[in-house]
Amino acid sequence: MGALTRPSIEEIYLDTNATTPVLPQAVVAVEQVMQALYGNPSSTHITGLKARHLMESTRDLARQVLGASSGHLIFTSGATEGIQTAVVSALSSVKSQPALLNKPKKLLLYGATEHKAVPNTLKHWNQLLDINAEIVPIPVNQQGLLDVDFIRRHAKDALMICTMAVNNETGARQDLSAIEQAIRSENKACLWMVDCVQALGKTDLALSNTSIDYAPFSGHKLYAMKGIGLLYVRENAPFSPFIAGGGQEQGLRSGTENLPGIASLKPILEALLDPEHKTFRSLATLTAFRQQLAAALQKAFSGLVFNNDFSVSVPTTLNFSVKGFASKELLDLFDAANIRVSSGSACSSGATRSFVLDAMGLPAWQSESAIRLSFGPAMTQAQLDAACERIQQASDALRYSCRHPGHLRPEQAIDGLLQLKSGADCCYLLINQSQCVVIDPVEALLPRIIETVQCAGLTVKAILDTHNHGDHISAADALSQALALPRIDVDALGWPLNATKGELGLPAIEIGNNVLSRLATPGHTDDAVALLLSSNGVIKAAFVGDTVLHGGLGRTDFASSDPVALYQSLKRLSDILPAKALLLPAHDYHNLLFTSFEAEQRNNPLLAKVLAPVSMMDALTFAKEKTALDAALESPSQGTEIRCGVTNLELKLSAEQELCLDDLANLERPLLIDVRESHEHHLQHFNNDDSAPLSRLAQYLLEHPEDTPLVCYCRSGSRSQLAAAALTRLGRKAYHIKGGVALSQ
Ligand code: PLP
Repeated sequence: MGALTRPSIEEIYLDTNATTPVLPQAVVAVEQVMQALYGNPSSTHITGLKARHLMESTRDLARQVLGASSGHLIFTSGATEGIQTAVVSALSSVKSQPALLNKPKKLLLYGATEHKAVPNTLKHWNQLLDINAEIVPIPVNQQGLLDVDFIRRHAKDALMICTMAVNNETGARQDLSAIEQAIRSENKACLWMVDCVQALGKTDLALSNTSIDYAPFSGHKLYAMKGIGLLYVRENAPFSPFIAGGGQEQGLRSGTENLPGIASLKPILEALLDPEHKTFRSLATLTAFRQQLAAALQKAFSGLVFNNDFSVSVPTTLNFSVKGFASKELLDLFDAANIRVSSGSACSSGATRSFVLDAMGLPAWQSESAIRLSFGPAMTQAQLDAACERIQQASDALRYSCRHPGHLRPEQAIDGLLQLKSGADCCYLLINQSQCVVIDPVEALLPRIIETVQCAGLTVKAILDTHNHGDHISAADALSQALALPRIDVDALGWPLNATKGELGLPAIEIGNNVLSRLATPGHTDDAVALLLSSNGVIKAAFVGDTVLHGGLGRTDFASSDPVALYQSLKRLSDILPAKALLLPAHDYHNLLFTSFEAEQRNNPLLAKVLAPVSMMDALTFAKEKTALDAALESPSQGTEIRCGVTNLELKLSAEQELCLDDLANLERPLLIDVRESHEHHLQHFNNDDSAPLSRLAQYLLEHPEDTPLVCYCRSGSRSQLAAAALTRLGRKAYHIKGGVALSQ
């Protein structure tokens, strides 16, 4: 299949709140230590003494940077260990004081937007040490700032209070002196931890001037190595070693010290103390950088809003959302443009959202669309300029998917079938020669449909439903109004009353050189129809509503259902459709995208019996079995989602279907297809591949009915795995590139 090449574009890394690259000076320092300064700081010979000197001089620098002239400064493996040590120290101290332990009301307070390391550590040790305190989040306002009154009201019952100096998602900088005042006015003894991970290098700290008891830091968030951190412990604050052993670090943290890690910290601390800002930019410069980035983002994405209030944030974090885009979509776009940013965290429902923005009370769409862009103090003007230029290129590429925020016309025709999904609901746009028919529109997809119609300049010929849906109201009227379509007389499913018979002898609508014909298929509901897509008399696909689903048949326990009619409809449909014709249902619970009678018969014994050449099941027996099956389904009144006759289904690819790039040479004439969105494909792809985003994979199959093996790829391997599984189920030979383009760079 020829050599696979991809143009290499330099990575633009804007995710420094996750981790940073290691500063070149730090790399040199680590190398030197590994080669020459390998001594154990506890050894009393000269090799050991040299190692100890490096360690102590680094600690002294850290004291200066953190304003920690008193108290302990302990080297740890990172902030998570620092947090454990602080919590274990505080709770062990509580445990040894019956007066505290037996209090009727005991609280452990933490900021609602804290890094998960904090609440999870509190929960863990509260349970393990049998403290039985109530763990309560401190609310934040829309800017992400802690409710100081709440702290004041609850401080007297608090055993420990955990807050953060700077938030990792929004950069929000807490007012530590206001928090201190609120805590100490009510409770002098309460132990206070401040997570300072994101504050280092971005805001001034003077720890010894405060009553903060514990402050963890992490090296890899500021250009040092991973695996090194610091914990500040106030003089006389309760302390229990979290790691006991050989007594290193004055017995506060045992284990031979991580000298390469400590060495990597040293040049960072020196750079932070440099008044000339030769390595790290000044706060004023970083603030100007933020302004430039913000302007570039606003220019590139017209519907962009910032989720963090710059007036209370460190300058190095920008958090934004773009109306109409999910976080995952934006992340995919930026990644394809080789810009690394980060999205919120995946929640249990599968949608990516930000618990931090949720806690701030921002609208749901902002949380679901949030992107964090962060840069470090070592950023240069040249890097910034390159980032701004690349952001514009990423936005421009959106026109290839008709998703450009300014509705730039697509550079290529978008003819064919577009499959849009919202949860398990499927909606289809059939586009040909600037004409379009919308099938089964759902409300959540209206913005996307409108965007497509307007950007491609389509004339909407009809908005059709396959049946009166049991689980939602059709968005046909809303769509028609939003697009200000001329009123024509249509029936309840959107068919023009004057529709005439077409090439299949059924009522039909023409869209370019395609014909959409209506075939009654009652059963699931009495009004159900299938919409047959043909050209030149050949049927290629059918929109079957809920009559046939991937892995099931439409349920028949609605008031207007009739299992006997469903039996007859299935037979009628399969008689008229080629076995391999694509079936496109109104629901897709398992991300299977499409199916066919051939695939369903292979997987559905009940359907196989109904459609066997010599009938193996009569209508009444089918009705009995189907009714029994439906009785086991979730009741429509119970669930939030009506599973229209589908039970669970698990799809796995075989090991031989998961490829790495080198394996491609061994396959016979495979077609390589990029299943990412068209804009991602435009930004970065292999030299001789096809583009078929998941939303256009059905169209790709209509255009490539031959049985050539298909190799799917995407960014990380998850969309391509899904595509390959769907294709395999359909009976196509399909593979995917495990790990996606991420591993091919
Ligand atoms: N606290 C904050 C605010 C962070 O951003 C992180 C890292 O993501 C941590 C704690 C954990 O740090 P580490 O990776 O050093 O354990």
